[in-house]
Amino acid sequence: MIFTAPQIHDGHRFLPAGSCIETDASGEVVAIHAADAGAIPDRFFDRGILCPGFVNAHCHLELSHLKGVIPEGTGLMVFLQLVMQQRTATDAARQTARQQAFDALYQAGVVAIGDIANTNDALDLRASGKMVFHTFVETSGFIPQTAGYRMDTARTVWQDYASQSETLGLHQQSITPHAPYSVSPELFRMIGTAPETSRLSVHSGESEDERELYRDGSGGVNGLFQSLGLDISFFEPYGQDALDVWPQWLPTEKPLMLVHNTTTTEAEVQAIEARFPETYWCLCPNANRYIEGRLPDVAMLRRITKDICIGTDSLASNHQLSVLGELQLLKALVPELTWEELLRWATWNGAQALGLEQTIGSFKAGATPGVVWIEEPVLGEAVRVG
Ligand SMILES: [Zn+2]
Repeated sequence: MIFTAPQIHDGHRFLPAGSCIETDASGEVVAIHAADAGAIPDRFFDRGILCPGFVNAHCHLELSHLKGVIPEGTGLMVFLQLVMQQRTATDAARQTARQQAFDALYQAGVVAIGDIANTNDALDLRASGKMVFHTFVETSGFIPQTAGYRMDTARTVWQDYASQSETLGLHQQSITPHAPYSVSPELFRMIGTAPETSRLSVHSGESEDERELYRDGSGGVNGLFQSLGLDISFFEPYGQDALDVWPQWLPTEKPLMLVHNTTTTEAEVQAIEARFPETYWCLCPNANRYIEGRLPDVAMLRRITKDICIGTDSLASNHQLSVLGELQLLKALVPELTWEELLRWATWNGAQALGLEQTIGSFKAGATPGVVWIEEPVLGEAVRVG
């Protein structure tokens, strides 16, 4: 199959006008033809952009049944309390919602996903083989004494996913911490050194409450702990910002993705970049707007790092799971961002962030990245076409 459109983005940049992409029956990229090579396209799009399939680097498919349940603007700590109080959905309802969300992601061009999992619910979605998963088995526990137990529980879930990956010859999984305000130093260290942890993803800088907890023990995290019935009187604040503290508990040699970064400052980004050789900054701006009504300093982030990728977070905190929808909001926020750069974030950078860049994220010969058509970038939709 030979594809062409007025613009083709190869995961890194736009190709010269008139280029064509050729794939075989399995979807593997066979060749990129220059305009003068005489290739005759089978799929000719007279408008829009073709690009490799999107990578949704941060999603929680297991929360899909919470679509529209949590009101907007609660702030992160109340949002989390409300999520944890929602236990009424039946297994069937959860399964239906999860499948619908997955199908919508697939149709809208997502070929690989960084899926956060507290349960083994997503085994059914992974079994279809329609999308490549890196499952981040998320664990939390602020009470230091529970670290071993929490790690054992995470290992059980991880094993379910690992066994399936082995059977299918597809997908990856690693154990990862939830967030700086919900994980003890002991648990951070256990996760970081575990053989099950190939790469890390941490919710970071999603709310000022995180900074306040680490600095002086104040802030909305206390309300969250109270609602959970947790006594944290043992906790001694660090007198420092969270990002000056918790990264010390993780090994520097494992790839690290920081998700959200809404409150993260320039100095913090620079310190993380200096400490970890392989760092990715994942943006989910629609979820930030939904929960906190605040957005990350994207212009600052992009000045310091090229390693920005895109996630949608969950349907509990987003009206839709649309990678293009996240790009559209970023473009509206920071008009100087080009579509060339934004599409790189959504394809190649996301693939790197999940360690999938050999097969996903670019139109290079031998890769199987999928083909997405964007009818019109600012207001249009993305559709998987190959
Ligand atoms: Zn999340």
